[in-house]
Amino acid sequence: KSGFVAIIGRPNVGKSTLMNQIIGQKIAIMSDKPQTTRNKIHGVYTTEEGQIVFLDTPGIHKPQSKLGDYMMKTAQNALSEVDAILLLIDVVEGLGGGDRYIIENLKKVNTPVVLVMNKIDQVHPEALLSIITTYKDLYPFAEIVPISAMHGSNVNTLLEQVMKYL
Ligand code: GDP
Ligand code: MG
Repeated sequence: KSGFVAIIGRPNVGKSTLMNQIIGQKIAIMSDKPQTTRNKIHGVYTTEEGQIVFLDTPGIHKPQSKLGDYMMKTAQNALSEVDAILLLIDVVEGLGGGDRYIIENLKKVNTPVVLVMNKIDQVHPEALLSIITTYKDLYPFAEIVPISAMHGSNVNTLLEQVMKYL
């Protein structure tokens, strides 16, 4: 099995951290400052089970200009060509306008979307339930997987789930 997976989400949700955790090396730029990942960065994850090519897709956030609009279209085209999309959210920050904007745009794309609830090391497990309910009302996610990208918790489960869509 092999395929392409896009990792999307607001700045600082942990996209680069997850990429690094999966690929096992510093391939994406890490920073506390939003939007430092300016280029699409590809990382390849290989096991006996298969191969996943990860795309760190920028440009899916709210356009501020005509150029932003163009970038948004480019991002949408990229997302329609991958086998699965990982939408990362930060369970500490909760649902923000940025998340809603991204989800609205995902409705224009037919690719299965896995909701990845990141930073679960920071919240009480009971809090996760209400977050799941909120997100389920917004979009028919193919899977919902809680993880901690930083600690690597549940990342293997996430990879197993993703493999189903390749
Ligand atoms: P990106 O902008 O989406 O690429 O986010 P980053 O990967 O750069 O992460 C933003 C910040 O969140 C960094 O300070 C990370 O160390 C932190 N972070 C990422 N994943 C986790 C996690 O699972 N738990 C905690 N506590 N912090 C995380
Ligand atoms: Mg990043």
